[in-house]
Amino acid sequence: METVGFIGLGNMGGGMAGNIQKAGYQMVVHDINEGATRPFLEGGAHLASSPADVASQCDVTFTSLPGPREVEAVAVGLEGVLQGAKPGSVYIDLSTSRPTLIRELEPKFREKGVHVLDAPVSGGKSGAQSRNLAVMVGGDREVFERVKPLLDAFGDKVFYAGEIGAGSVAKLVHNMIGHGVRQAIAEGMTLGVKAGVDTEALWQCIRRGSLGRMNVLHEGFVRTVFKGEYEPAGFALSLARKDIGLATELAKEFDVPMPIANLSEQLAIQAMNRGWANHDSTVVVRLQEEMADVEIRADIDVTKAAKFITTHPDE
Ligand code: NAD
Repeated sequence: METVGFIGLGNMGGGMAGNIQKAGYQMVVHDINEGATRPFLEGGAHLASSPADVASQCDVTFTSLPGPREVEAVAVGLEGVLQGAKPGSVYIDLSTSRPTLIRELEPKFREKGVHVLDAPVSGGKSGAQSRNLAVMVGGDREVFERVKPLLDAFGDKVFYAGEIGAGSVAKLVHNMIGHGVRQAIAEGMTLGVKAGVDTEALWQCIRRGSLGRMNVLHEGFVRTVFKGEYEPAGFALSLARKDIGLATELAKEFDVPMPIANLSEQLAIQAMNRGWANHDSTVVVRLQEEMADVEIRADIDVTKAAKFITTHPDE
């Protein structure tokens, strides 16, 4: 079995690394927040002093970091992964990051005989903990096939997307669509409630229509928005703002007009300026509530909401 390195043990990395450790792999861990490494050390993992130290001891090294700035520093900075990585080993970035960055980094690793994959994930903190996670993988298919059993240890929906960077492009597109859809729901709900329909009645009507099959209607709205509670964040606004920014940046690079994504970005910036960076990213709905001068609130049982979608998908 490979020795596995893991750098960045936050909301996502903590859950994923936990499942890798549970699957029986020997692990080497590192995080600038040393407290985050503690549970893994108790489970038998070794603590490394730097990303280079991790990579020098491992066959496969993962990073799960906030964004491109941290990924670049950890991958190719002083005492970075590149400095320590052994020929024949694999470096896999699980962060949601800039596709162009991983495409620039890959040849530097290839020169040393190190393989690179980008493999951003989707499923949230709870999915990372319960192994209910999509993994969108870019890079050499043979390398992907080689590490697939390891990816399966923390993801139940592992998918090969194409050449290096393809996973990151797919992930940014996924999140960009999600933010646009959420904005549309925020507008619709504030309109419906202000026009006289009870929040829960409106929500029950919408989910019984064809839109009800969309998961975005359930999780974020039931857990946070309808309660008006945005802390602690499952997925922080600062990370969502970064993702939309990366998507609109990519769109500029490829001359794709993105009116809805750009609008979502402006709204995320406004929400950040309210001091909500560390709130859950669904807090952008609060802006819409303020603009519409109406609150959408309901006390709905999360487990019942999830059950409905699986038992009556076509209703
Ligand atoms: P997080 O902030 O909880 O975790 C990031 C971890 O990286 C922290 O433990 C931090 O201490 C560590 N870190 C930061 N800089 C470092 C450095 N230079 N060296 C070593 N460690 C460093 O973030 P998260 O929510 O776990 O997100 C991680 C990535 O996954 C992001 O790219 C995010 O966009 C993506 N993502 C998050 C979610 C979610 O729901 N939270 C879902 C899918 C994808």
